[in-house]
Amino acid sequence: MTTGLKVCIVGSGPAGMYAAGDLVKKAPDARIDILDKLATPYGLVRAGVAPDHQTTKNVTRAYDKVMENANVRFVGNIRLGEDIPLHELRALYDVVIIATGTPKDRSLNIPGEDKQGVYGAQTFVYWYNGHPEFRDAVPDLDIETAVVIGNGNVALDVARILMRTADEMSTSDLVDHAAREIFKSPLKRVHVVGRRAPENAQFSSKELGEFAELAAATAYTDKTLLPDEYISDDKKQERVVNTNLELLRSFEQIRDGVDGRSIHLDFLASPIEILGDERVTGVRFERNRMEDGKAVGTGETYEIDCQLLVSCIGYEMGVLEGLPVERGIVKNDAGRVAPGLYVVGWAKRGPSGTIGTNRLDSQEVVDLLLADNLRGGDPAKRGPDGLDAWCREKNIHVVSFDDWKKIDAAEVARAGEKSPRRKFVRTRDMLSLIRGEASS
Ligand SMILES: Cc1cc2nc3c(=O)[nH]c(=O)nc-3n(C[C@H](O)[C@H](O)[C@H](O)COP(=O)(O)OP(=O)(O)OC[C@H]3O[C@@H](n4cnc5c(N)ncnc54)[C@H](O)[C@@H]3O)c2cc1C
Repeated sequence: MTTGLKVCIVGSGPAGMYAAGDLVKKAPDARIDILDKLATPYGLVRAGVAPDHQTTKNVTRAYDKVMENANVRFVGNIRLGEDIPLHELRALYDVVIIATGTPKDRSLNIPGEDKQGVYGAQTFVYWYNGHPEFRDAVPDLDIETAVVIGNGNVALDVARILMRTADEMSTSDLVDHAAREIFKSPLKRVHVVGRRAPENAQFSSKELGEFAELAAATAYTDKTLLPDEYISDDKKQERVVNTNLELLRSFEQIRDGVDGRSIHLDFLASPIEILGDERVTGVRFERNRMEDGKAVGTGETYEIDCQLLVSCIGYEMGVLEGLPVERGIVKNDAGRVAPGLYVVGWAKRGPSGTIGTNRLDSQEVVDLLLADNLRGGDPAKRGPDGLDAWCREKNIHVVSFDDWKKIDAAEVARAGEKSPRRKFVRTRDMLSLIRGEASS
């Protein structure tokens, strides 16, 4: 067994938490610091998972147990690359695990992306979920039509959150600033547009099924595009796709002149230009057909008028000094980046899969790093003590797990009658609360 390792995990999302949980089991005397740039832990479970999907967030109970282990510390409100450079962390710890996710929206790479009213999913989702960095990214929702690009669950989340009523959201933790804008919006129609065929969409049946049950919006699709049956060697995939096709068949047939609030699921179309002067006024699409599993443009184009565009086509790593990034992820070999440096989660594999997908993946990297470090910890590495000294010297106000529990308790205590919590959305308010000062 590897002994005395000092490990720093950068990022407290699912991937970092599964790595920590596995390390606690396999190297019980390892000292593990889990850093996060936010004062709140658990990454996209708090800031990505939709506010009306509270049961998904219950996974944090298992993460809490890991955080409460005597050898594990949460060190929030410290940002790799700004508050501390990677080379410093590598000098302090035997092992550094990058678990930062993929914090940047992938670009559509079409003309007009810089127009007002055009958002990446990251910005839009973080805004309605109260991520402090996106508190003020207030989209103008005084609009009639929105277009959401993408055929995955994030696109469905965005469309659904835009269309749910206040009553439907009463048991959610949708933040106040987003609720104010969304519920007063005169929005009538959301188009969710994917470049591939309906059977290629990456929807979960649960998310798609929710469209059929919206209190105040009707779901439409072009049923002539739906195949009678989907057959695949992958039987699990076959079942999911056939369930989704069945759900799509239960939607209304798309037609001109639809009145009332509606969501339209359009397939086989790629955006080629965002129209408008300063603000977006529409999107030009090219119709596609499928050839050998790929969407290929047909040359036929059409336009959808809209005043908001949210592109949900995936995420990538940004630049972090000292980290090799290639094709939007940290360049790695099964999780190894360099001696003593590893990567897990979306930063390693790219933005796909569910929370659970990160579990096995992180465990495999832990096995690898333990095998690489059989000699155990280097006594010269200062680990947590060295980090504390760094933070003192640089005047960095880190947030501990006990501090987070105070924030958590206060959010729960000030929640509305049916809502699970009312989030703090500014780090300064969280820090005031921790210090016992009055906060808003
Ligand atoms: C909008 C959205 C909704 C989703 N909904 C679901 C769902 O309902 N169910 C499901 O199973 N999966 C869902 N997923 C997928 C799931 O969230 C991911 O699989 C998972 O979060 C990836 O984990 P991660 O730890 O790699 O990254 P993340 O969860 O992104 O965690 C990364 C952490 O690193 C921190 N960080 C980033 N940069 C730095 C830095 N420089 N210094 C310090 N800390 C840093 C971040 O603050 C964050 O806490 C959703 C994803 C998105 C985008």
